[in-house]
Amino acid sequence: MKKEDITIALTGNPNSGKTTIFNNLTGTRQHVGNWPGVTVEKKVGTVIHNGHRLRVVDLPGTYSLTAYSIEEIVARRFLVDSKPDVVVDIIDASNLERNLYLATQLIEMGVKLILALNMADVAQARGHQIDADSLGTLLGVPVVFTIGTKNQGMKDLLDKVLEVVEDRDTVSRHIHISYGHEIEKEIKKIQDVIWQDPSIGERFSTRWLAVKLLENDEAVQDRARSLGEIGEQILTQAEASRGRLNEFYKDDAEMVLTDQRYGFIGGALKEVLKVSGKIRFDLSRQVDLILTNRLLGFPIFIFFIWAMFQLTFTLGAYPMEWIDAGVGWLGMVVTALMPEGLLQDLLVNGIIAGVGSVIIFLPNILILFFCIALFEDTGYLARAAFIMDRVMHIIGLHGKSFIPLLMGFGCNAPAIMATRTLESERDRLLSIMINPLISCSARLPVYILLAGTFFGASAGNVIFSIYALGIALAIAMGKLFSVTLFRGDIAPFVMELPPYRAPTLKSLLIHMWDRSQIFLRKMSGVILVGSILVWVLGSFPRSADLQRGQNVERGATSPTQERVISLAESRQPMSAAANEDDPQNPELNMEMAQLENSFLGRLGHFIQPIFAPLGFDWRTSVAVLTGFVAKEIVVSTLGVLYAGGADANEESEALRRSLRASGMTPLGAYALMAFVLIYIPCLATVAVIRRETNSWKWTSFSIGYSLALAWVVSFLIYQGGTIVGLG
Ligand code: GDP
Ligand code: MG
Repeated sequence: MKKEDITIALTGNPNSGKTTIFNNLTGTRQHVGNWPGVTVEKKVGTVIHNGHRLRVVDLPGTYSLTAYSIEEIVARRFLVDSKPDVVVDIIDASNLERNLYLATQLIEMGVKLILALNMADVAQARGHQIDADSLGTLLGVPVVFTIGTKNQGMKDLLDKVLEVVEDRDTVSRHIHISYGHEIEKEIKKIQDVIWQDPSIGERFSTRWLAVKLLENDEAVQDRARSLGEIGEQILTQAEASRGRLNEFYKDDAEMVLTDQRYGFIGGALKEVLKVSGKIRFDLSRQVDLILTNRLLGFPIFIFFIWAMFQLTFTLGAYPMEWIDAGVGWLGMVVTALMPEGLLQDLLVNGIIAGVGSVIIFLPNILILFFCIALFEDTGYLARAAFIMDRVMHIIGLHGKSFIPLLMGFGCNAPAIMATRTLESERDRLLSIMINPLISCSARLPVYILLAGTFFGASAGNVIFSIYALGIALAIAMGKLFSVTLFRGDIAPFVMELPPYRAPTLKSLLIHMWDRSQIFLRKMSGVILVGSILVWVLGSFPRSADLQRGQNVERGATSPTQERVISLAESRQPMSAAANEDDPQNPELNMEMAQLENSFLGRLGHFIQPIFAPLGFDWRTSVAVLTGFVAKEIVVSTLGVLYAGGADANEESEALRRSLRASGMTPLGAYALMAFVLIYIPCLATVAVIRRETNSWKWTSFSIGYSLALAWVVSFLIYQGGTIVGLG
């Protein structure tokens, strides 16, 4: 029998090496997408082996196949509905007991299974001797050893896949994990009811269905319900059986079943696993004594985070300048090569500047994600969650939710993507809703400009207070939401503390790139569209005189071009770009007229009344509006509007002078900073929120509440400050 298209599903616990093996097998022939309807990543690739085309599907990493987390539901649905030809369960061989738990469930589902004992090197180094043949015989599942990082065992694995698919292997047989007399009796009763409709048994393992019903599995119950009459009978029987077991064991059936599975695994391991030599010095445990120490754990953790941000921003500043220069250069080249006119303006000031403003963040993002991959792959991230657990409980969240919040200081968009690692939908939503309050790096240029202009020597403290305000609001809102919108208990779960591991550079780079790629792909689109929009609004309607004025007298420079230049420069706070522009320059005044007359300007005047109680004039209102695209744009818009297109570098004296001369007070500036901190997450973040919540309702809520909160907080600051005489 030759089967042309064979589907292999890779399952396994998180961190067992699934991605590594998937990449080994499929190389570049892979496609990344999402599972339908949810935001769990789906990776599919192909590999040719002995003339067969094998389709490899990387299922989400799970510890179990209950229906608790999205990952588990996705993985299970694929196994049940798409019926892959073979399931390869990637197992961390150095941690057999825990990893085999998933295997017991796969065995129960009756899928064609192969166990890949990965991390064979680690197991060996720890002195674990695994008798793979006996293990295979006991479980009725073929077993191969692999070392993902060394690309070893891949051929064996694929050979085994073909053997199993073609029924040539001698090990495969269907075994039952025995649950003891009482439970078996109930399983049998449920199975008997199910068999009244033989078509069910043709599609699913009835034993598996029975076990799941005993475990009160909602997904299976829903399916049963959809079967009508017979379904009701099945459910009634299941309910009765659960009741009886509950009576007998004085405990939930799912607990008893879990214990039995571990009992089964324990029994199997007694026969096949030998730990040689004297009990080895457990390095992981020793390291944990320090890193998760009650007293030391926290400061050490803070130090690592501090180091991460240092690295992200200081190291990132160099490539940032190069990219910045590159983008600027490209703009100049296009300006020089293309005839002047609208199209050139759009290309240079709309598109190049817009996309450039995203790409410029790439180094920071890569470094940040590299650090996070490092934390994750070494096993430290799990400890961080552990350390922060108690603190996070204050706002009704788990320690795990701390990681996305932390990433928010870099950029909220990928931070929100990181909420995918959270098990419960409630935790995910809550974390997503408060994430934008964590002040991302894009807001820093705004603070630097305003604090530097109005607070002189105490600028640093002022900026720090804004960050603190963000954190305080995140905590307050988290608390508020968790007792109103997201009520319910914190779902208990085991804090996994996987052993420490030295990661390979390759796997770090893969993980880093995986994340950055999604970020770039999605965000460049949003930013592109948004920047074009701002450009259009700022460039039209064009008065004929003004246009002539620009084209003739100032060559290629248009009002929006200043924004480009200033955008570029706003990213290098220390650059000493001289500002030669004369504020009295008549062309600049003309540009001001153009801007004030543009849609953007009119919009500013139109919305200004809303912002008047916060002390914003029409120009500030426009800046806040354009800042929706990306918050750094607030700085460049202020630059265009106040300094008449003068250099909007945060250090620029001209802009500072005009800001001070405009009647803005330190109090007004502080209210503006608070507003920029809180109001609407930027367009990119909104897009990510939409994607991750899969709901316009939550997206609108996030936009709406942050706007309202921003207004209220700024109002309190401005009016309150005025009353006490700070204005
Ligand atoms: P996934 O979460 O299951 O996709 O796991 P990954 O493929 O991301 O692997 C987790 C970590 O284990 C990475 O740092 C890998 O480099 C490492 N790893 C994967 N396979 C092996 C192996 O066979 N031996 C060792 N020592 N490390 C491995
Ligand atoms: Mg993976």
